[in-house]
Amino acid sequence: MSKRDYYEILGVSKSASQDEIKKAYRQQALKYHPDKNPGDKDAENKFKEAAEAYEILGNQDKRARYDRYGHAGVGGASGNGFSGGGMTMEDIFENFGDIFGSAFGGSFGGFSSFGGFGGSSRQRSRRVNKGSNLRVKVSLDLKEIAHGVTKKIKVNKYVTCKPCDGSGAANSSGFSTCTTCNGSGQVIKVTSTFLGQMQTAAVCPACGGDGKIITNKCTSCHGEGIVKDTEVISLDIPAGVAEGMQLSVNGKGNAPRRGGVNGDLIVLIHEEKDPDLIRDGNDLIYGLYLTFAEAALGAPVEIPTVDGIVKIKIEPGTQPGKILRLRGKGLPEVNGYGRGDLLVNINVWIPKTLTKEEQKIVEQLSKSTNFTPNPDASDKNFFEKMKNFFE
Ligand SMILES: [Zn+2]
Ligand SMILES: [Zn+2]
Repeated sequence: MSKRDYYEILGVSKSASQDEIKKAYRQQALKYHPDKNPGDKDAENKFKEAAEAYEILGNQDKRARYDRYGHAGVGGASGNGFSGGGMTMEDIFENFGDIFGSAFGGSFGGFSSFGGFGGSSRQRSRRVNKGSNLRVKVSLDLKEIAHGVTKKIKVNKYVTCKPCDGSGAANSSGFSTCTTCNGSGQVIKVTSTFLGQMQTAAVCPACGGDGKIITNKCTSCHGEGIVKDTEVISLDIPAGVAEGMQLSVNGKGNAPRRGGVNGDLIVLIHEEKDPDLIRDGNDLIYGLYLTFAEAALGAPVEIPTVDGIVKIKIEPGTQPGKILRLRGKGLPEVNGYGRGDLLVNINVWIPKTLTKEEQKIVEQLSKSTNFTPNPDASDKNFFEKMKNFFE
């Protein structure tokens, strides 16, 4: 599934200020708000899309990663078992509710399908109990990044207690109905507002929403329904990832207390420094030192790449500062399209000390007119290349 560009979604330019982005999101959110478009699936999708775009562009770190690596940089790598950061309606109101300000706040209080999300009482349907997310850091070298890799990692996490199957009770008769909520899991609160009395449901404080109380606790988990354990998890890491990227694996986080769905496993990518190659986005840079003789006479040389050694020919008369581009020898795009290049930056090594004999030879050589610098004969694109190089 290809995602739309976040800037396009919000209708702002790539150079938009944080303020402009916030304004643009507010406009979109109000336009596609579910209260204004009841039952309109298309509007709801647009509303979610705008929230996702704002979640990234509204945060400077995430925005910088997005600018550099696209959706993949912000956890949106599709396929490979990783899921993007899709948000539910509840998440949106929870995270960005305050951006709507008074536009929807008080006046709709309690009557809209999402309640007054200006920060007041929000009536929620009973939420699925979800375990907490687990975070791990995975170190990768450039070869692993270039080709993608399956990593097995061992994590300490909460898992469902087997003897009680997560219920927390020693046996099926180890429960009694909660007397505070009479088994409904919810208690009703009545508050007075200028619109009259408002009823809101809240999770029952006595049973935590379960509707029942454990009277005979499971001895393995002491009634929690979860126990600490280690699990070996196999991670399929796609090619082209970079330092700081986060990938999330659904359902591989902690199990929740007494039933529900597992949290997610958040994998933070750490890129190990390569001894030879420097990364610049999807391009790689290698600093090649030639001897004076190799540069003058030409020579076959070996270049380390992420695919192993590549042999190239240095032409006679090659100047220091020349950059050779080995097409497609860089890193793949994390989305699976295209591959960067390997830029070989040529240097010529000048010996720092000379023997008497060498000194004589060099002095003799320097008398030849061929040894007078002649910039006209050198690489005319040099400055242009250097400019691109540092951008
Ligand atoms: Zn209760
Ligand atoms: Zn148990």
